Amino acid sequence: MALSKTVQTALNDQIGREFYSAYLYLSMSAYCGSRNLPGFAHWMMLQAKEEAGHAMKIYGFIEDRSGRVMLQAIDKPPSDFKSPLELVTKVRQHEEMVTEELNKLYALAASEHDYATQIFLEWFLTEQVEEEKSSSQLVERVKMVGDNQGALLLIDRELGARSAAS
Ligand code: MG
Repeated sequence: MALSKTVQTALNDQIGREFYSAYLYLSMSAYCGSRNLPGFAHWMMLQAKEEAGHAMKIYGFIEDRSGRVMLQAIDKPPSDFKSPLELVTKVRQHEEMVTEELNKLYALAASEHDYATQIFLEWFLTEQVEEEKSSSQLVERVKMVGDNQGALLLIDRELGARSAAS
């Protein structure tokens, strides 16, 4: 069954959101690097790569369904943040927004009786549970740091140890 135009458009929009996510994390990585937080920068860079991977997964799915990939404009991400806490809070907000959009996409696929797209999207919805969990943990931990720069450096070291797989 070919993709309906509505589902195809929604999937193309999601490609744009995933690339925007990659762009946002890349911008955050640059900011963290400039603030001498190499661990945060590393973590954000891995996020950026993951997000570009998500975009490509959808790209491949559209092609597998004989649909047409049509790339949309990507917004300019913020490049300045007041503090590491503001930055990680934005990460959490962003991931919550992505979950909402994926939920809408899933509901759309359901209303169009597009079961293959629903099954495809399940991987993304599961991934969002992980993204929301890790970003919430990050916010809570950076909150605990307060003005303690030493504690911030400890978190930085830990984030620096993240491997590409997780
Ligand atoms: Mg994603």
